[in-house]
Order: sequence, then structure tokens, then C-alpha cells
Amino acid sequence: MSEKLIDPIGRYRSGDFAEQRQEWPGLQREMEPVPDCGEASYVGTGRLAGRHALVTGGDSGIGRAAAIAFAREGAKVAINFHPREQPDADDLHALFAREGRDLTLLPGDLTDPDFCAQLVDDARERLGGLDLLVLNAGYQQAQKTIEDISHEQFDRTMKTNLYAMFWIAKRAVGSMPRESAIINTASVNSFNPSGEMLDYAASKGAIEIFTKGLAKQLAQRGIRVNAVAPGPVWTALQISGGQLEGGVRKFGQNTPLGRAGQPAELAGLYVALAEPGNSFTTGSIFGADGGTGVA
Ligand code: NAD
Ligand code: MG
Repeated sequence: MSEKLIDPIGRYRSGDFAEQRQEWPGLQREMEPVPDCGEASYVGTGRLAGRHALVTGGDSGIGRAAAIAFAREGAKVAINFHPREQPDADDLHALFAREGRDLTLLPGDLTDPDFCAQLVDDARERLGGLDLLVLNAGYQQAQKTIEDISHEQFDRTMKTNLYAMFWIAKRAVGSMPRESAIINTASVNSFNPSGEMLDYAASKGAIEIFTKGLAKQLAQRGIRVNAVAPGPVWTALQISGGQLEGGVRKFGQNTPLGRAGQPAELAGLYVALAEPGNSFTTGSIFGADGGTGVA
């Protein structure tokens, strides 16, 4: 990161976003502005040299920021993403190639338990090991009332956000070495549900408890489990159904910092939770929410 002092308010835009909407899952390359995932700013110092990381939802947004940071810290990285997101994944692959790095692309639908198991096996094989797991993929569709939430939406939200986390972790932990780390993406909704995100918030609440419980289970195996709980961050999730109609323009302006976050601002937290120096930190949830005080 830059050595000069950075004003957290002035670092990114705090005015309105242009109202915009894409079909799910959305491509961040078509957003205005394109989210900043640290492509031009993240500087690594070898904190994850020799590590092997799988990042779900790694094509865009927060997962992409973590993938970039992990690679620049020296880790080998594989990303999972939905097949419809191939263009964003290709962009990231090209960025890695320009830097002389390899990025393993493992597309597939996380709502399928068989695919989740295969994903773990493929990542381990392609990377030559697996000791960092960032379980970050998420599905969020805002709806005004419970009557507006279809069975299919509720099911998809739970499968993507919670079941896939369970399926992947269950498959992975048996062969993860001591000093491995699992980092889940929770949300401010884990603690304080938005009324228009009932299914999403319920899944994120479960992720908070899953993180703390799994950390207790895995402590004696030397595997740490933590989570990051973001507030409003400018990503494709938000413009492909994550906000009610008209909710994009003022997105994030209700935080004490007065603006939405950018994925790049969260990357350092994922690195901190991955690096072996923070060996006493497990079973905790770390907020990155512009000061809302929720996490
Ligand atoms: P994003 O859209 O860039 O990333 C979400 C990713 O989830 C997608 O890129 C996609 O690859 C993956 N995904 C969803 N359904 C999938 C499926 N069926 N199969 C495979 N992959 C699938 O948005 P983001 O905001 O970076 O989201 C990352 C995480 O951050 C999510 O868990 C989200 O809930 C969480 N989060 C985001 C915000 C925010 O304001 N952006 C706030 C709190 C929490
Ligand atoms: Mg995406």
C-alpha cells in the first residue's frame, strides 16, 4: 500500500452513484465506476509466501481483492466463480499474467454439493496443496416483504451463503495442514438485519455462529477460522438485485464515513487473518463497515 497518509473519507467517492442494474450475477467490468479491488494499489511484502489459497467468488468484488492481495503476498491462488462470470475471471487472469503470476480458474455452481467437493479436490491438486480457504461467495436479493421471497430465492440464498460453506469446509479440513486458515465473509447483517434482506441476513447470522463453532472444533488441529463482516461495499452483488429499486444511488452514504467502501479497503483484513503471525486469533468476526459499529 502507499506509504503516504490516506484520508479514509477522501480516498473514494462519497457522492451519488449512477442508478444501474444488471442481470444476476452481474459483471463488475460493466459497472460505473468499476469497483477498485486493489489492482493498481495493493503492494505485497511476502506475508503469504509458500501458501495455497482457494477463494470463492474470487472473480469480482471482495473475493477478487483478497485474491489479488494473497497473490502479491506470495500465495498461489485459485478462484471459484459462477460460469456466467467468466469475463470478470478472464480479466483477473490477464492481470495476473501481466504480473507473471498464475491464477487457477475453477468455475462452477456452488449450490451443487458434488461440485463443492470436486472444487476442493481440484484446488488442492492444481495448487499442490490447500492451506487457505476464503469462503466468500454470496447471494443477496432484496425484497420488501417476506411474501415477496420465493421458496427458490430462500433456498438459493441458503445454499450459496451457508450450505456451500459447510460443504466446502467439510471436504477441505481433513487434509488442511496445521497453520491453515479459513476466512469466511459474514456481513453487518450477521448482527443487525436489514428488513429487506430477511433470507440473506438469516444466512449471514448463521455464518457468524458457524465461524465461531468451527473455530472451536478445529483449534486443536491448528486450523484457525475467522470472518470479515463488511458493511456497504461497491460490488456487483449490489447492482444485480442486492438493493431495492432506486437503492443504488445513495448506496453507503448512511455510514459514519459517508460513503460506500471499495473491495480494496478490505484486502488487508483477509491477509491479516491468513498470515501465521496472528496465530492467537481464531473464532472472531472483524468488521469493515465505515464505522457503523455493528461488528
Ligand atoms: P460480488 O458479486 O463481486 O461477489 C459475490 C460472488 O459470489 C460472485 O462473484 C460469484 O462468483 C459468487 N457466487 C454467487 N453465487 C454463486 C454460485 N451459485 N456459484 C458460484 N459462485 C457464486 O459481490 P461482493 O460484495 O464482493 O460479495 C462477496 C461477499 O461479501 C458475499 O458473501 C457478500 O454477501 C459479502 N458482503 C458484501 C457486502 C457488500 O456491500 N458488497 C456487504 C456485506 C457482505
Ligand atoms: Mg462476480
